[in-house]
Amino acid sequence: MTSRQVLQNYVNGQWCDSETKDYLEVINPATTEVLAQVPLSTTAELGQAAEAAAAAFPAWRRTPATERVQYLFKLKYLLEENFVDLAETITQECGKTLAESKGELQRAIENVEIACGIPILMQGYNSEDIARGIDEIMIRQPVGVAAAIDPFNFPGMIIFWFLPYAIACGNTYIIKPSEKTPLTMQKVMALVAATGIPEGVVNLVNGGKEVVDAILDHPAIRAISFVGSTPVARYVYSRAAANGKRAQCQGGAKNPVIILPDADIAMTTKIIADSAFGCAGQRCLAASIAMTVGTARESFSSAIAQAATDRVVGYGLDPAVQMGPVITPDSKQRVEALIAQGVGEGAKLLVDGRCPQIPSYEQGYFVRPTILDEVNPAGAIAKTEIFGPVLSLIHLQTMEEAIALINGGQYGNMACLFTTSGAAARQFRYEAEAGNIGINIGVAAPMAFFPFSGWKDSFFGDLHGQGHQAIEFFTQTKVVVERWPQGWSRQF
Ligand code: NAD
Repeated sequence: MTSRQVLQNYVNGQWCDSETKDYLEVINPATTEVLAQVPLSTTAELGQAAEAAAAAFPAWRRTPATERVQYLFKLKYLLEENFVDLAETITQECGKTLAESKGELQRAIENVEIACGIPILMQGYNSEDIARGIDEIMIRQPVGVAAAIDPFNFPGMIIFWFLPYAIACGNTYIIKPSEKTPLTMQKVMALVAATGIPEGVVNLVNGGKEVVDAILDHPAIRAISFVGSTPVARYVYSRAAANGKRAQCQGGAKNPVIILPDADIAMTTKIIADSAFGCAGQRCLAASIAMTVGTARESFSSAIAQAATDRVVGYGLDPAVQMGPVITPDSKQRVEALIAQGVGEGAKLLVDGRCPQIPSYEQGYFVRPTILDEVNPAGAIAKTEIFGPVLSLIHLQTMEEAIALINGGQYGNMACLFTTSGAAARQFRYEAEAGNIGINIGVAAPMAFFPFSGWKDSFFGDLHGQGHQAIEFFTQTKVVVERWPQGWSRQF
C-alpha cells in the first residue's frame, strides 16, 4: 500500500474505484501524516454490493459447510502470515501501541478458528415419533445477505466478531468499515480475496452515513451487525427493525470498577491503569469510573495517580510507548473539554493530562492519562462516555452503595470488582447489571466462544456477537414435521 493511496471498494470479486466526489483523509493521529483518501461511497454503490451478495448467495449456501470453512482455514494462515504488517497498519491509522494492535489481531484470529467449527455448531436437532409415525426436525439455514457497520477503535478485530460466523453459516456479506480507520480492512479484504472465496460472497463498501442508510434500507440485506456509539446504535436498530431486518447493535459504555479494602492494591492498580489508559481509553471495555470502598480510598488513589503519571505516552510504533493518541483533533478537544467540565462540577484534578507536549510528535492528538478525584456521582461527568484516557474516582463506604450506583447507570457493557473475598465476588457477580463482568480483571473481554454481552444502552437487540449467539443470529430455524404412514413404509 503506498502512502496517500485512494482506497477502493471490493464488489463481486473486483476492486473498484468509487464514483463519489467526496473523500476524507485517513490521518495517523500520532504523526498527523495523511495515510490515504477514503471514498464516501454512494447509495447506488451499496446497491451494487447488495445485488452481488444476493446473486452469490444461492451457490454459497449450497456449498457444503465443510468446504466453506476451508476458506476460513486459509484466512487464518494469511492473517498469521501478515500479522506484523496488519498490526502496524492498525497502529498507524488508529494510534494504539503495537502490542495492543497485536492483541487485537489475536482476538480476530480466535474468532476465525471458532467459526471453523461450523459443521458442528450449526447442526439442528430432531425428535422421532412426536406422534405415531411423525418425526420433527429443526434445520438451521442462513438468512441471506448480511452486513456489518464498524467503529474506528478496533479496525482489525470487530469485523471478526461477525464475518467468519456469517459466511461459515452460508450467508454472503457486506462490510462498511469506519471512515476514520479503513486501511486495515482494505488489507484484510485483500487477504479474504486471496483465499479464493467465490466472487460476491464478501464485499467491502467504504463510506459514511449514506452507505449506512443504504444498508438499513436495502431489501436484499436481511441482517445487520453494528458497533459504535449509543445514539447511532439506537438509530441503526430502530431503522433496521422498521425495515423488518434482524439487527444486533452494540453501543457505548461507561464502565465502573469497584476496589474493596481487601483488594491487592499493587495488582489492582496495574490492572486498572491498563484498563483505563490502554488504547488511550478508546475501548468500549475501558474502566472509566473507579469506586473505592472504605480504606481502599487512600492506598488506591495515590497508587493510580502514580501509575497515570508514569505512563509512557507517544507513537505506538515505538516499543517503549505504553499509550498512544486519541483518534482526531475533535476527539482531543472533546476529551479535554469534558475534563474541564468535571472540574467545573467539583472534581479535583489529581493528574491533569491536557495539552501535553510529546517530543517529536507535537502535532499529534495526545491527551495524557488524567485522574479526576471526588467526582460527583450525580454529575454529568460520572455519566458521560468520555472515550479518552480519563479515570474518575468516586469514594464510597460499602459495596452495596457502589452496586446501586452501577445499576442506576445508563449503560451495561462491563463492571469489575477487585477483592480477595469470594463472598463479595459472588454477590457482585449476582447483582451487578452489566453484560460483561470482571473479577480481578480490568477488561472483561469475552473469548470468541462466549457472547460479547452488553446490557441496557450498551446493546440493542437479542443475540450478541461471537459464540453460539452468532450462529443463532446468522441462521434462521426451519422446523419440518413429517408423517410417514406405516402402510407406505416397509414394515419394521
Ligand atoms: P460512531 O457511532 O461514530 O460510528 C460507528 C459507525 O457508524 C461508523 O461506521 C460510522 O460511519 C457510522 N455512523 C456514524 N454516525 C452515523 C449516523 N449519524 N448515521 C449512520 N451511521 C453513522 O462510533 P465510533 O466513534 O466510530 O466508535 C466509538 C464508539 O463505539 C464508542 O461509543 C464506543 O463505546 C463504541 N464501541 C462499542 C463497542 C461495544 O462492543 N459495545 C465496541 C467498540 C466501540
